[in-house]
Amino acid sequence: METKVTTTSQAQQRVPGFACPRCGQFMPVPIQQLLHHSSLVCPWCHQRLNIDRHASAKALSILAKVEEAQQRVNNAGSI
Ligand SMILES: [Zn+2]
Repeated sequence: METKVTTTSQAQQRVPGFACPRCGQFMPVPIQQLLHHSSLVCPWCHQRLNIDRHASAKALSILAKVEEAQQRVNNAGSI
């Protein structure tokens, strides 16, 4: 059984982020911010959230690769 997924341009516009554990609202979080800051403040309820960098190391390394690839695409597009 094969499932085919159609990729659209909309998929590239998906904003990285996660749901706030306190208020449940979606927080858009730039990858750069996840990579370089150890805490975030929810824009909705102003709850400070510490990023567990050790537990998130694997996810962060994947995000870093995505970010790197995106910047490469952006650089190529601007030339
Ligand atoms: Zn919140």
